[in-house]
Parts: sequence; structure tokens; C-alpha cells
Amino acid sequence: MTRWMTTALLVISFGAAAQQSPQAASAPQSASVQPVSTNTPGAAVAPQAARTPVSADQVIDQIIEREHALITFLSTRKPIVETYLQNLAPDTKLGAIPKEDHYFLGRLDMAQSIERRDFLASQASLQKLMLGGVSKLFRIQYEPMGFSWMVFADRQNFDRAHYDFKYVRREFLGEVRCVVFDVKPKSGAGKGMFEGRIWAEDQDFNIVRLNGTYVPRPRNAEFFHMDSWRLNLVPGYWLPAYIYSEEGDFSYGSKDKLAFKAQSRIWGYELVKNNREDELTDLKVEAVKDESAVAQDASPLEAQREWQQQAEDNVVERLQEAGLLAPSGEVDKVLQTVVNNIEITNNLDLPRGVRCRVMLTSPLETFSVGNTIVISRGLIDTLPDEASLAAVLSHELGHIVLGHNLGSKFAFNDRMLFTDESTYQNFGFKHNPDEEAAADAKALDMLSKSPYGQKLSSAGLYLKQLQVRAPVLAALLTAHLGNNFTDSKGQVIRLSALMKSAPNLDDEKLDQLAALPLGGRVKLDPWEDRVEMIKAAPMAITNVRDKMPFELTPFFPRLTRLSSAAEKRSASETMAQGAAPR
Ligand SMILES: [Zn+2]
Repeated sequence: MTRWMTTALLVISFGAAAQQSPQAASAPQSASVQPVSTNTPGAAVAPQAARTPVSADQVIDQIIEREHALITFLSTRKPIVETYLQNLAPDTKLGAIPKEDHYFLGRLDMAQSIERRDFLASQASLQKLMLGGVSKLFRIQYEPMGFSWMVFADRQNFDRAHYDFKYVRREFLGEVRCVVFDVKPKSGAGKGMFEGRIWAEDQDFNIVRLNGTYVPRPRNAEFFHMDSWRLNLVPGYWLPAYIYSEEGDFSYGSKDKLAFKAQSRIWGYELVKNNREDELTDLKVEAVKDESAVAQDASPLEAQREWQQQAEDNVVERLQEAGLLAPSGEVDKVLQTVVNNIEITNNLDLPRGVRCRVMLTSPLETFSVGNTIVISRGLIDTLPDEASLAAVLSHELGHIVLGHNLGSKFAFNDRMLFTDESTYQNFGFKHNPDEEAAADAKALDMLSKSPYGQKLSSAGLYLKQLQVRAPVLAALLTAHLGNNFTDSKGQVIRLSALMKSAPNLDDEKLDQLAALPLGGRVKLDPWEDRVEMIKAAPMAITNVRDKMPFELTPFFPRLTRLSSAAEKRSASETMAQGAAPR
């Protein structure tokens, strides 16, 4: 064999994967805020030129003005909001561990303002309050919802008449220097008012982080605490991207009955827009003559493959349009390297190249459409190493090699004409149990010949850990387009043979990390839906409670201003285009 596999780029950083270490360096200063600069990048979308604040009062005025500008700027957007929530129970050894979970995926209509009183309904559960009064919480569905009250400090009354602002200090969040204020509602200002701390970057004074809760606490309901982060992805604006919420206290003698952790992610801001003009310029492409057809006509088999390719392309394009799939990028290349390693060592010669794409959602799933393998962000996050990634990808490669994905009904374009909201009803790529078993057998055979053949104990341990947690993680384990990893009783059914040869799970072994927490590997750009690998330094696991398999942790994104982020992005874009598959 002249070709040899290339090494995949996936960083195996044991223990480190989940946390980005907080980069904040605080620098307390005197109470008077000094203006630093007044650039307003991208004046086209940031209409107000920043004034030069000379006092804390003027800084506050500008923060308020920018918050209202953000509300206006986003009012035409309908981003996707995903919330994954784990209710917690105390465990003497492991600390607070999940006892059940809930998943919500929806579209947030930013034009709609939710009435504050909706959240004050006396009997509403905490989760219900959190999701803004949406009643069908535990089903996947899209609908405009009142999430927006968490996205902004206060949609209706964020002003000096309703709130007191107290300067705290300057502080760096990542690369961005911020002014920090404590915010409290004035007495008698109303119900459901924000109380907490805000961080505003010190050039234009946009809020970049909000941390706090809502007061006063109603008698029969509760407000939860939230830590909300924004990213500078368009000139002049910082977009709400991550919200971490947590409630509950397990300290000795505490009376809290309900405890949970939840991560919310917002993305797909660019999805819903009027781009008719773009479509017209696209028409020019059709004037280019198709030279490939000159050589010869398609044979029946070629026509069949072309047809299948068309179906595959339609589906991938449609999923991306619906905001469920990331555009192709650098993470795909990591995945494809792993698949190539299996293909080459098994001398596979497929008529069409295998491609890999990332689904943007948290539930653990893989599926394949034609020759495209799709793997969810949450699954990539929790896999401990490259060999376990190879194992889950090999199952889908098994389907492809065995010809299980030849259905081509999606080559007819009328079958793409459904609303984004009904994607999960119109698409499904599940296989029957026979095909599942055959794909597993093929996968194990291919893995044994691959460079991962001797390293599969990590994959087996991952599945063992999944089996332990499966009964309380039903939402995380419900695949929406592919097959589940577990059956209805929580038994692992995917690649279960790997569990037999794996070592025993041992919580006490600090170097045994069977599965990682969510959110540790893949970073998502909420404006363009791009994904990239997180670059976090390894951190030592110091006790069993640091392991947190499949669990949720707070967000601590490294904030940067658009200029440097945009340069990095366009550089990686150029790389991705240069190495585009097929
Ligand atoms: Zn399958």
C-alpha cells in the first residue's frame, strides 16, 4: 500500500475538553469611567455614531441606547434557540448528577415582545418560566416564543427611570475590556425586573454579558438565575449567543426541592432574510456551459448515481437552510480524515466520495444521507478521543458501504418544499433493525483493520458510561433524524459488542474519562452557523466530581472584537475552499 493514513487533527485533551479557563482578569479602578475610544466599526449597520462619554452617567446613557439599538436591529430576526436542561439529584460520591432531562428546540421571533405577566403565572413550573411560557415544552417544535426576555436585560423598561446603575470596575472578558455595572430596579419600578450585573465593552458600550435574575420573586413561582453571553459577529453589535441557567442548592440542610442546570444556545440569525437580489445574481451561473456533458452521455448506472447524488445534495442543502446543519468547514475535515483512515486501511473504493457534516444540535446522533455522514455537535462534544469518534463514524460508513442509503426520493425537488419548522416531520434517515445490525458488523470489521483497531476500549467505555446514564438522559438520547443509541429501556444497542471488550467503568480512576461534558469541543458561530474546534488548554481532573460525563457546565466564551475574529474566519474559509471535497 503506497498511501498511508494521515493523522486526524482531533485534539485528545483529557479532562480539558469541557472547560475553557476563565480569561477574565479584573482590574479595579476608580469610580469615574474614562473614555477610551469612540470607533464605530461598520457604520452601515451601526447607525448611531458613538458619542464620547465623559462621565459614568454618560456611559450608562450609551449602554441604554445601544441596548435599544440591539433590540431594533434584531427585531426582524428569527434565530433558532436550543435549550437542554438536566434536573439534578444529589449523589454522595458524584455531587449533583442528572436525574432527568428535557430538550427544547424552537425559533425565537425577536419581533415579538412577551408580556412580563406571562412569566408571573402562579402555577408555572420553573422550566416553563424559563422557556417563556411555551406549553409544549418536551416536544420538538418550532414556534415563536417569549424567550426574548432572557436575551435582553429588559425589553420594555431598560432606562434610568426604572433602574439604578452602580459602577463596579473595569474587567477583561477574553480580549475585550469591559466596564462593569451592578443594576437594580428602583423601588416600585414593577414586577419581573432584571437585577444583577452587566458587562459592556468599552468602545461603543454594548452589553456583552448579563448575569443575574428577575425580581421581586412572585409568591407561587420562581425566577431562575441566568448568565447570558453575547458575541461580536456583525459590525457594531453583540449578539446573544449563550445562556447558562442554574438553580438549586445541595448544601447540607438546604430546602431547595428543585435543582437544574440548563444551557441555551442561539444561532441561525442569518437564516430568515429576504435575499431575492442574491438569487438574481445567482442566475448568471446558468450561462456557463456544462462541458462535462460533451464527452459522453450518462450510462444507466451513471444516471442512477447522478440521481442519488442529487437527492443527497438536496437533503444536505435543505438541512443547512433550516439551520440544522453547519456549512462545510474545518470540523468536517477532521471527521473526514478519520473516515479516510478507515477507508484506506480497508481498501474501500467507493464510487462517490464520503463527506462528513456537523448537525448543530445537542442530542447524541449520527445518520447518513447517500454518502454524507452527519454527526451531531453534542455527540462530538462528549466523545473522549479519536478512536471513539472513529467508532461512531464507522457505523454510518457501514451503511454506505453496504448500500443502505440508496433511497433517492429526495431527488424530486417538490419534496424539499416544506417549512423549516416541519423539517423533523419531513425528513428521517432511520434504518430497520436488520440494517442496523449489518452496519454494526461491518463497522467492527472495518475498525479491526483500521489504525483504531487496538484503541477501541475508549469507545467501549463511552458506551458503558452511556448505558449507566441512559435512564435519566432520555432527551439527550432521542435522535431526531437518525437511529437512537439506546432502546426504549435504556440499553445501548449501537456497537454494543465494543462494551464487552472494554475495561470496567471506574469512577475512582481519575485518568479514566469515559465521556466528556457537553460543550467542550465544538464552538458555534451563531451568525453564520459555522462550527470550529475549541482550543482549550488541558486541565487536570482532581476528583471524581470533575468528570461530569454528559453533564452541563457554565459557558465561558473567550470574547473577541469582530475585526480579529473576522480575519481568522476568512482565513479558515480560504483553507476550507482550497481543500473542498469532490
Ligand atoms: Zn444506523
